[in-house]
Amino acid sequence: MATPQPYLEASSGDTTALYRLAGSSAETLQLALGLSRALQTSLDPSRLVDLFSDHMQGFVCHDGMLYRNDALDIQHRLGDQARHRCTYSLNIGDEPLGELVFCRASKFSVAETALMEDYLCYLLYPLRNALLYQTALHMAQKDPLTGVYNRGALDEALYREIGYSRRQSGNLSLVILDIDRFKNINDDYGHIIGDCVLKAVAASIQDCMRTADQLFRYGGEEFVVLMRDTDARGACLLAERIRKAVEGLPCHCSGADIPVTISAGVSTLRADDTAHSLFDQADQALYLAKQQGRNQVRCAGKDL
Ligand code: GH3
Ligand code: MG
Ligand code: MG
Repeated sequence: MATPQPYLEASSGDTTALYRLAGSSAETLQLALGLSRALQTSLDPSRLVDLFSDHMQGFVCHDGMLYRNDALDIQHRLGDQARHRCTYSLNIGDEPLGELVFCRASKFSVAETALMEDYLCYLLYPLRNALLYQTALHMAQKDPLTGVYNRGALDEALYREIGYSRRQSGNLSLVILDIDRFKNINDDYGHIIGDCVLKAVAASIQDCMRTADQLFRYGGEEFVVLMRDTDARGACLLAERIRKAVEGLPCHCSGADIPVTISAGVSTLRADDTAHSLFDQADQALYLAKQQGRNQVRCAGKDL
């Protein structure tokens, strides 16, 4: 049966921790200094938790640790997630930093939980800096208008996904989607409505995708979907599903009903492809879709 878990708050305003440390031995202060130094060496929240756990072994033995931050979708486990747990909700003022759990096969004593609280104070500010840094990195990869990933993120993802596909011997497919005659939408209705159409189209593409697929805004009215573990047939089916969804959109913007269609080119990674040739194949297929009348999907290999 699970033991009741103490649920404690660790916040930066706890000065009793500092008084307790002031009465500590030279060896303890040395360990505390080591912990403090180590926590200055990384801006990766998971790495900070690893360092914190390593150094905390000098104060309170534990079998494992878990750090969770739902806002940033971080779930970091290390060691053995044993049955006795001490859970701390980490905050600086009103700012939540996530939840840290100490795990051990045997119960933690009151003296040990007091020590954990003392040393958690060392983690708070480095962790906050790391979370702010991760948030900034994340935002730099997003397109502010549509909220999907931007072109910089696509370059990185292509490199990463080609590596993954080669290691796993899996298929990787890419779709380029381009809104048809988008210039006319801007000319007829203005740029604000044009922006509204871009957002509606991005949302519609996202609704058609699986969770493992990734969507990028490549340029003005061009989007790219990267699909791991998807062969040419699956990718062409998805592109066709997106095309139909966009064609059937009720695209209401500022009281106007805007008809919108999209053309797509699809390619699937071959043995000798690079990121460039994979993209180029999809681009040629898209060119064909435009040439042959728009509002259609063309697939490299099959149509080229
Ligand atoms: P095609 O069917 O051949 O793709 O024609 P098109 O009109 O969609 O293509 P074209 O490349 O001629 O025009 C793209 C337009 O997209 C021109 C540009 O002003 C517009 N555009 C690019 N970025 C944005 C944006 O962020 N917001 C708005 N509203 N328009 C944009
Ligand atoms: Mg275009
Ligand atoms: Mg276009």
